[in-house]
Amino acid sequence: MPTTKKDITAALGTVHVPGFKADLVAGGCVEWVAICESTVSVKLHLPEADDQTMVRVGDECARAIGTKVDSLALTVEFVDHAGSVVKTLHPSARPAPPQAPEPTGHTPIRGLSGGGSKTARPAQAQDSASGLPGVTHIVAVGAGKGGVGKSTIAVNLAVGLARKGLVVGLMDGDIYGPSLPTMLALDALETNVHQGKLQPFLVHGVKTMSIGKLVEPEKPLIWRGPMAHGAFKQLAEQTHWGELDYLVVDLPPGTGDVPLTMAQTLRLTGAVIVCTPQKVAQDDAVRASKMFQQLGIEVLGVVENMSYFVGDDGKEYDIFGRGGAEQMAQRLGLPFLGAIPITMKLRVNCDTGDPTANFEPADTALAQSLNAFIATFESQVSLAAMRQGQTRPTLTIS
Ligand code: ADP
Repeated sequence: MPTTKKDITAALGTVHVPGFKADLVAGGCVEWVAICESTVSVKLHLPEADDQTMVRVGDECARAIGTKVDSLALTVEFVDHAGSVVKTLHPSARPAPPQAPEPTGHTPIRGLSGGGSKTARPAQAQDSASGLPGVTHIVAVGAGKGGVGKSTIAVNLAVGLARKGLVVGLMDGDIYGPSLPTMLALDALETNVHQGKLQPFLVHGVKTMSIGKLVEPEKPLIWRGPMAHGAFKQLAEQTHWGELDYLVVDLPPGTGDVPLTMAQTLRLTGAVIVCTPQKVAQDDAVRASKMFQQLGIEVLGVVENMSYFVGDDGKEYDIFGRGGAEQMAQRLGLPFLGAIPITMKLRVNCDTGDPTANFEPADTALAQSLNAFIATFESQVSLAAMRQGQTRPTLTIS
Protein backbone atom coordinates (compact mmCIF):
# COMPACT_ATOMS: atom_id res chain seq x y z
CA MET A 1 0.00 0.00 0.00
CA PRO A 2 1.39 3.42 -0.89
CA THR A 3 2.27 5.69 1.97
CA THR A 4 -0.31 8.40 2.60
CA LYS A 5 -0.28 11.76 4.33
CA LYS A 6 -2.05 10.04 7.20
CA ASP A 7 0.91 7.67 7.64
CA ILE A 8 3.35 10.56 7.62
CA THR A 9 1.24 12.53 10.08
CA ALA A 10 1.05 9.48 12.33
CA ALA A 11 4.84 9.23 12.23
CA LEU A 12 5.16 12.92 13.10
CA GLY A 13 2.88 12.23 16.05
CA THR A 14 5.71 10.22 17.59
CA VAL A 15 8.21 13.09 17.38
CA HIS A 16 8.66 15.17 20.50
CA VAL A 17 10.24 18.58 20.62
CA PRO A 18 12.88 18.79 23.34
CA GLY A 19 11.51 20.81 26.23
CA PHE A 20 7.84 20.42 25.21
CA LYS A 21 5.37 17.86 26.48
CA ALA A 22 3.31 17.55 23.30
CA ASP A 23 4.38 15.81 20.11
CA LEU A 24 4.57 17.73 16.82
CA VAL A 25 0.99 16.90 15.81
CA ALA A 26 -0.69 17.39 19.19
CA GLY A 27 1.31 20.58 19.66
CA GLY A 28 -0.10 21.98 16.39
CA CYS A 29 3.39 22.36 14.92
CA VAL A 30 2.70 20.63 11.58
CA GLU A 31 1.76 23.23 8.95
CA TRP A 32 1.52 20.79 6.08
CA VAL A 33 2.68 17.47 4.71
CA ALA A 34 3.18 16.64 1.03
CA ILE A 35 4.09 13.25 -0.37
CA CYS A 36 5.01 12.11 -3.85
CA GLU A 37 6.27 8.51 -4.13
CA SER A 38 9.28 8.41 -1.83
CA THR A 39 9.65 12.19 -1.66
CA VAL A 40 8.16 13.78 1.45
CA SER A 41 7.97 17.47 2.37
CA VAL A 42 7.02 18.59 5.85
CA LYS A 43 6.55 22.15 7.03
CA LEU A 44 6.82 22.79 10.77
CA HIS A 45 6.07 25.84 12.86
CA LEU A 46 8.36 25.90 15.88
CA PRO A 47 8.88 29.60 16.52
CA GLU A 48 10.85 29.10 19.73
CA ALA A 49 13.24 26.48 18.38
CA ASP A 50 16.89 27.32 18.02
CA ASP A 51 19.14 25.92 15.30
CA GLN A 52 20.23 22.89 17.29
CA THR A 53 16.65 22.00 18.19
CA MET A 54 15.56 22.26 14.56
CA VAL A 55 18.33 19.88 13.50
CA ARG A 56 17.34 17.43 16.24
CA VAL A 57 13.68 17.61 15.32
CA GLY A 58 14.57 17.15 11.65
CA ASP A 59 16.57 14.03 12.46
CA GLU A 60 13.73 12.67 14.58
CA CYS A 61 11.27 13.27 11.74
CA ALA A 62 13.57 11.38 9.35
CA ARG A 63 13.77 8.47 11.77
CA ALA A 64 10.01 8.36 12.32
CA ILE A 65 9.03 8.82 8.67
CA GLY A 66 11.81 6.51 7.48
CA THR A 67 9.92 3.59 8.94
CA LYS A 68 7.02 4.40 6.57
CA VAL A 69 8.77 5.14 3.25
CA ASP A 70 11.62 3.35 1.47
CA SER A 71 14.53 5.32 -0.05
CA LEU A 72 13.27 8.44 1.61
CA ALA A 73 13.97 11.90 0.25
CA LEU A 74 12.76 14.15 3.03
CA THR A 75 12.58 17.93 3.22
CA VAL A 76 11.76 19.51 6.58
CA GLU A 77 11.11 23.23 6.51
CA PHE A 78 10.68 25.42 9.56
CA VAL A 79 8.52 28.49 9.11
CA ASP A 80 8.06 31.62 11.18
CA HIS A 81 4.79 33.36 12.15
CA ALA A 82 4.52 34.90 8.68
CA GLY A 83 4.91 31.49 7.03
CA SER A 84 8.37 32.31 5.67
CA VAL A 85 10.91 29.51 5.67
CA VAL A 86 13.64 30.09 8.26
CA LYS A 87 15.45 26.78 7.86
CA THR A 88 15.38 23.88 5.43
CA LEU A 89 16.76 20.46 6.29
CA HIS A 90 17.13 17.27 4.28
CA PRO A 91 17.77 14.89 7.11
CA SER A 92 17.79 11.63 5.15
CA ALA A 93 20.90 9.45 5.17
CA ARG A 94 23.14 10.90 2.52
CA PRO A 95 26.45 9.62 1.17
CA ALA A 96 29.39 11.58 2.52
CA PRO A 97 30.61 14.19 0.09
CA PRO A 98 33.95 13.50 -1.59
CA GLN A 99 37.01 14.21 0.52
CA ALA A 100 39.25 16.94 -0.76
CA PRO A 101 42.85 15.79 -1.10
CA GLU A 102 45.09 16.46 1.90
CA PRO A 103 47.29 19.48 1.37
CA THR A 104 50.48 17.55 0.59
CA GLY A 105 52.17 20.27 -1.36
CA HIS A 106 51.73 18.22 -4.54
CA THR A 107 50.34 19.79 -7.67
CA PRO A 108 46.57 19.33 -8.26
CA ILE A 109 45.41 16.04 -9.73
CA ARG A 110 45.66 16.29 -13.49
CA GLY A 111 44.25 14.35 -16.37
CA LEU A 112 41.42 12.73 -14.45
CA SER A 113 38.78 11.52 -16.92
CA GLY A 114 38.11 13.87 -19.77
CA GLY A 115 41.32 15.74 -19.25
CA GLY A 116 40.25 18.71 -21.35
CA SER A 117 39.32 20.91 -18.46
CA LYS A 118 41.88 23.23 -17.10
CA THR A 119 43.48 22.68 -13.73
CA ALA A 120 44.68 26.19 -13.02
CA ARG A 121 42.34 29.12 -13.38
CA PRO A 122 43.81 31.96 -15.36
CA ALA A 123 43.32 35.37 -13.78
CA GLN A 124 39.89 36.14 -15.20
CA ALA A 125 36.34 37.02 -14.41
CA GLN A 126 36.06 34.22 -11.82
CA ASP A 127 38.85 35.64 -9.70
CA SER A 128 36.67 38.49 -8.47
CA ALA A 129 33.69 36.17 -7.89
CA SER A 130 32.64 34.71 -4.57
CA GLY A 131 30.49 31.77 -3.61
CA LEU A 132 27.08 32.06 -2.02
CA PRO A 133 27.15 31.37 1.73
CA GLY A 134 26.07 27.80 2.46
CA VAL A 135 26.12 26.71 -1.20
CA THR A 136 28.61 23.94 -1.98
CA HIS A 137 28.50 23.77 -5.79
CA ILE A 138 27.23 26.37 -8.23
CA VAL A 139 26.84 24.86 -11.67
CA ALA A 140 25.69 26.63 -14.84
CA VAL A 141 23.81 25.00 -17.68
CA GLY A 142 24.49 26.72 -20.97
CA ALA A 143 24.11 26.20 -24.69
CA GLY A 144 25.39 27.95 -27.75
CA LYS A 145 21.94 27.90 -29.30
CA GLY A 146 18.35 28.42 -28.18
CA GLY A 147 15.86 25.58 -28.35
CA VAL A 148 18.32 22.73 -27.82
CA GLY A 149 16.78 21.88 -24.45
CA LYS A 150 19.03 23.81 -22.08
CA SER A 151 16.23 24.69 -19.64
CA THR A 152 14.82 21.19 -19.94
CA ILE A 153 18.18 19.72 -18.94
CA ALA A 154 18.65 22.26 -16.12
CA VAL A 155 15.23 21.42 -14.65
CA ASN A 156 15.71 17.67 -14.89
CA LEU A 157 19.23 17.87 -13.50
CA ALA A 158 17.97 19.81 -10.47
CA VAL A 159 14.98 17.52 -9.90
CA GLY A 160 17.09 14.37 -10.36
CA LEU A 161 19.69 15.57 -7.84
CA ALA A 162 16.93 16.47 -5.36
CA ARG A 163 15.43 13.00 -5.80
CA LYS A 164 18.75 11.61 -4.58
CA GLY A 165 18.29 13.49 -1.31
CA LEU A 166 20.54 16.42 -2.18
CA VAL A 167 19.55 19.98 -1.34
CA VAL A 168 19.17 21.75 -4.65
CA GLY A 169 18.38 25.25 -5.85
CA LEU A 170 17.53 26.15 -9.43
CA MET A 171 17.91 29.70 -10.64
CA ASP A 172 16.40 30.85 -13.89
CA GLY A 173 19.27 32.95 -15.16
CA ASP A 174 17.70 32.99 -18.63
CA ILE A 175 16.48 36.49 -17.94
CA TYR A 176 15.50 37.19 -21.56
CA GLY A 177 13.26 34.15 -21.90
CA PRO A 178 12.56 32.49 -18.55
CA SER A 179 11.09 29.01 -18.98
CA LEU A 180 10.96 27.83 -15.40
CA PRO A 181 7.55 29.27 -14.52
CA THR A 182 6.06 26.94 -17.15
CA MET A 183 8.39 23.99 -16.72
CA LEU A 184 7.81 23.96 -12.94
CA ALA A 185 4.22 25.24 -12.92
CA LEU A 186 5.10 28.30 -10.84
CA ASP A 187 2.33 30.46 -12.30
CA ALA A 188 -0.16 30.01 -9.49
CA LEU A 189 2.41 30.59 -6.74
CA GLU A 190 2.75 33.94 -5.00
CA THR A 191 6.14 35.57 -4.81
CA ASN A 192 7.12 36.09 -1.20
CA VAL A 193 9.70 38.56 0.13
CA HIS A 194 10.85 38.19 3.72
CA GLN A 195 13.32 40.54 5.42
CA GLY A 196 14.32 41.91 2.04
CA LYS A 197 15.05 38.49 0.51
CA LEU A 198 13.10 36.63 -2.13
CA GLN A 199 11.83 33.32 -0.80
CA PRO A 200 12.43 30.57 -3.38
CA PHE A 201 9.52 28.33 -4.37
CA LEU A 202 9.89 24.73 -3.20
CA VAL A 203 8.62 22.58 -6.05
CA HIS A 204 9.51 19.00 -6.96
CA GLY A 205 11.95 19.05 -4.04
CA VAL A 206 13.88 21.98 -5.57
CA LYS A 207 14.16 25.57 -4.33
CA THR A 208 13.66 27.71 -7.36
CA MET A 209 13.50 31.36 -8.39
CA SER A 210 12.83 32.90 -11.76
CA ILE A 211 12.84 36.42 -13.14
CA GLY A 212 9.61 35.33 -14.78
CA LYS A 213 7.94 35.58 -11.35
CA LEU A 214 9.12 39.16 -10.82
CA VAL A 215 7.93 40.76 -14.04
CA GLU A 216 4.60 40.92 -15.82
CA PRO A 217 3.87 37.68 -17.63
CA GLU A 218 4.09 37.80 -21.42
CA LYS A 219 5.82 41.18 -21.38
CA PRO A 220 8.96 41.13 -23.55
CA LEU A 221 12.07 41.28 -21.41
CA ILE A 222 14.30 43.82 -23.05
CA TRP A 223 17.30 44.45 -20.88
CA ARG A 224 20.24 46.69 -21.66
CA GLY A 225 23.61 45.27 -20.54
CA PRO A 226 23.66 46.94 -17.08
CA MET A 227 20.02 46.03 -16.45
CA ALA A 228 20.66 42.40 -17.36
CA HIS A 229 23.67 42.49 -15.04
CA GLY A 230 21.55 43.90 -12.18
CA ALA A 231 18.69 41.46 -12.73
CA PHE A 232 20.99 38.45 -12.68
CA LYS A 233 22.87 39.65 -9.60
CA GLN A 234 19.67 40.35 -7.71
CA LEU A 235 18.28 36.95 -8.48
CA ALA A 236 21.48 35.26 -7.34
CA GLU A 237 22.25 37.33 -4.28
CA GLN A 238 18.86 38.44 -3.04
CA THR A 239 17.18 35.07 -3.04
CA HIS A 240 17.21 33.29 0.30
CA TRP A 241 18.77 30.08 -1.00
CA GLY A 242 19.88 28.84 2.43
CA GLU A 243 22.16 25.81 2.57
CA LEU A 244 22.44 23.98 -0.74
CA ASP A 245 24.48 21.10 -2.11
CA TYR A 246 23.90 22.45 -5.61
CA LEU A 247 22.68 25.65 -7.15
CA VAL A 248 21.92 24.97 -10.83
CA VAL A 249 21.85 28.13 -12.96
CA ASP A 250 19.95 28.03 -16.25
CA LEU A 251 21.73 30.54 -18.50
CA PRO A 252 20.40 32.31 -21.59
CA PRO A 253 21.61 30.75 -24.84
CA GLY A 254 24.71 32.12 -26.50
CA THR A 255 27.66 34.10 -25.32
CA GLY A 256 26.15 37.44 -24.20
CA ASP A 257 26.29 39.61 -21.10
CA VAL A 258 24.77 37.22 -18.60
CA PRO A 259 27.53 34.57 -18.56
CA LEU A 260 30.03 37.36 -17.97
CA THR A 261 27.97 38.76 -15.09
CA MET A 262 27.62 35.27 -13.68
CA ALA A 263 31.35 34.62 -13.90
CA GLN A 264 32.09 37.89 -12.12
CA THR A 265 29.44 37.31 -9.45
CA LEU A 266 29.44 33.61 -8.61
CA ARG A 267 32.35 31.25 -8.17
CA LEU A 268 31.32 28.17 -10.08
CA THR A 269 32.38 24.57 -9.78
CA GLY A 270 31.70 24.33 -13.52
CA ALA A 271 29.34 24.46 -16.45
CA VAL A 272 27.39 21.87 -18.42
CA ILE A 273 26.92 22.41 -22.15
CA VAL A 274 23.75 21.18 -23.79
CA CYS A 275 23.90 20.38 -27.48
CA THR A 276 21.81 18.51 -30.01
CA PRO A 277 23.65 16.22 -32.41
CA GLN A 278 23.41 18.54 -35.45
CA LYS A 279 26.42 20.31 -36.87
CA VAL A 280 24.90 23.80 -36.43
CA ALA A 281 24.28 23.18 -32.74
CA GLN A 282 27.79 21.78 -32.32
CA ASP A 283 29.41 24.87 -33.83
CA ASP A 284 27.61 27.10 -31.34
CA ALA A 285 28.38 24.71 -28.48
CA VAL A 286 32.09 24.93 -29.30
CA ARG A 287 31.81 28.72 -28.99
CA ALA A 288 29.99 28.38 -25.65
CA SER A 289 32.64 26.01 -24.37
CA LYS A 290 35.44 28.42 -25.34
CA MET A 291 33.53 31.26 -23.69
CA PHE A 292 33.35 29.37 -20.37
CA GLN A 293 37.03 28.58 -20.54
CA GLN A 294 37.87 32.22 -21.26
CA LEU A 295 35.83 33.24 -18.25
CA GLY A 296 37.81 30.81 -16.11
CA ILE A 297 34.88 28.41 -15.66
CA GLU A 298 35.62 24.71 -15.92
CA VAL A 299 33.48 22.86 -18.46
CA LEU A 300 32.16 19.77 -16.66
CA GLY A 301 31.06 18.18 -19.92
CA VAL A 302 28.61 18.01 -22.78
CA VAL A 303 25.17 16.42 -22.73
CA GLU A 304 23.57 15.43 -26.02
CA ASN A 305 19.87 16.26 -25.95
CA MET A 306 17.33 14.98 -28.50
CA SER A 307 19.94 12.36 -29.24
CA TYR A 308 17.57 9.73 -30.66
CA PHE A 309 13.90 8.85 -30.83
CA VAL A 310 12.34 5.60 -29.67
CA GLY A 311 9.36 4.71 -31.88
CA ASP A 312 6.27 2.74 -30.91
CA ASP A 313 7.97 -0.21 -32.59
CA GLY A 314 10.69 0.02 -29.92
CA LYS A 315 13.30 0.90 -32.54
CA GLU A 316 15.64 3.82 -31.98
CA TYR A 317 15.77 6.43 -34.75
CA ASP A 318 18.73 8.80 -35.01
CA ILE A 319 16.75 11.76 -36.28
CA PHE A 320 19.38 14.43 -35.75
CA GLY A 321 22.45 12.22 -36.22
CA ARG A 322 23.04 10.62 -32.83
CA GLY A 323 26.55 10.92 -31.44
CA GLY A 324 27.33 14.30 -33.01
CA ALA A 325 27.64 16.09 -29.68
CA GLU A 326 29.64 13.21 -28.21
CA GLN A 327 32.12 13.46 -31.06
CA MET A 328 32.33 17.19 -30.53
CA ALA A 329 33.06 16.62 -26.83
CA GLN A 330 35.80 14.18 -27.76
CA ARG A 331 37.29 16.64 -30.23
CA LEU A 332 37.42 19.32 -27.54
CA GLY A 333 38.73 16.90 -24.92
CA LEU A 334 35.63 17.40 -22.76
CA PRO A 335 33.83 14.73 -20.75
CA PHE A 336 30.64 13.39 -22.33
CA LEU A 337 27.87 13.39 -19.75
CA GLY A 338 25.22 11.39 -21.57
CA ALA A 339 22.56 11.26 -24.25
CA ILE A 340 18.89 12.12 -23.63
CA PRO A 341 16.32 10.85 -26.15
CA ILE A 342 13.65 13.03 -27.73
CA THR A 343 10.36 11.89 -26.24
CA MET A 344 6.78 13.08 -26.24
CA LYS A 345 6.65 12.44 -22.50
CA LEU A 346 9.49 14.85 -21.77
CA ARG A 347 7.90 17.55 -23.91
CA VAL A 348 4.47 17.09 -22.28
CA ASN A 349 5.89 17.06 -18.75
CA CYS A 350 7.82 20.27 -19.52
CA ASP A 351 4.69 21.95 -20.80
CA THR A 352 2.63 20.87 -17.81
CA GLY A 353 5.30 21.63 -15.21
CA ASP A 354 5.68 18.07 -13.98
CA PRO A 355 9.37 17.08 -14.29
CA THR A 356 9.08 14.47 -11.54
CA ALA A 357 7.05 12.35 -13.99
CA ASN A 358 10.13 12.07 -16.26
CA PHE A 359 11.76 9.86 -13.65
CA GLU A 360 8.85 7.47 -13.27
CA PRO A 361 8.70 4.61 -13.90
CA ALA A 362 12.44 4.23 -13.44
CA ASP A 363 12.88 1.62 -16.18
CA THR A 364 11.94 3.85 -19.13
CA ALA A 365 14.63 4.94 -21.60
CA LEU A 366 13.99 8.54 -20.52
CA ALA A 367 14.36 7.96 -16.77
CA GLN A 368 17.40 5.74 -17.28
CA SER A 369 19.12 8.25 -19.53
CA LEU A 370 18.42 11.10 -17.11
CA ASN A 371 19.72 9.13 -14.13
CA ALA A 372 22.82 8.03 -16.03
CA PHE A 373 23.51 11.65 -17.03
CA ILE A 374 23.10 12.82 -13.43
CA ALA A 375 25.42 10.12 -12.09
CA THR A 376 28.13 11.09 -14.62
CA PHE A 377 27.55 14.76 -13.84
CA GLU A 378 28.07 14.12 -10.11
CA SER A 379 31.35 12.30 -10.75
CA GLN A 380 32.59 15.17 -12.89
CA VAL A 381 31.61 17.66 -10.19
CA SER A 382 33.58 15.66 -7.60
CA LEU A 383 36.61 15.57 -9.87
CA ALA A 384 36.32 19.27 -10.67
CA ALA A 385 36.01 20.11 -6.97
CA MET A 386 39.15 18.10 -6.25
CA ARG A 387 41.04 19.74 -9.11
CA GLN A 388 40.04 23.13 -7.82
CA GLY A 389 41.09 22.19 -4.28
CA GLN A 390 37.61 22.95 -3.02
CA THR A 391 37.44 22.07 0.65
CA ARG A 392 34.96 19.58 1.96
CA PRO A 393 31.71 21.26 3.01
CA THR A 394 31.26 21.32 6.76
CA LEU A 395 28.06 21.61 8.72
CA THR A 396 28.45 23.46 11.98
CA ILE A 397 25.99 22.55 14.70
CA SER A 398 26.31 24.79 17.70
P1 ADP B 1 16.30 26.01 -24.54
O1 ADP B 1 16.36 26.27 -23.06
O2 ADP B 1 17.59 25.44 -25.08
O3 ADP B 1 15.82 27.17 -25.33
P2 ADP B 1 14.07 24.32 -23.86
O4 ADP B 1 14.60 23.52 -22.77
O5 ADP B 1 13.17 25.48 -23.56
O6 ADP B 1 15.25 24.85 -24.79
O7 ADP B 1 13.35 23.32 -24.86
C1 ADP B 1 12.65 23.75 -26.01
C2 ADP B 1 11.48 22.84 -26.23
O8 ADP B 1 11.91 21.53 -26.58
C3 ADP B 1 10.62 22.69 -24.98
O9 ADP B 1 9.27 22.72 -25.37
C4 ADP B 1 10.95 21.32 -24.46
O10 ADP B 1 9.85 20.71 -23.86
C5 ADP B 1 11.34 20.57 -25.72
N1 ADP B 1 12.36 19.54 -25.47
C6 ADP B 1 13.61 19.74 -25.01
N2 ADP B 1 14.26 18.57 -24.96
C7 ADP B 1 13.41 17.61 -25.36
C8 ADP B 1 13.48 16.18 -25.51
N3 ADP B 1 14.61 15.51 -25.24
N4 ADP B 1 12.37 15.53 -25.93
C9 ADP B 1 11.24 16.22 -26.21
N5 ADP B 1 11.09 17.54 -26.11
C10 ADP B 1 12.17 18.24 -25.68
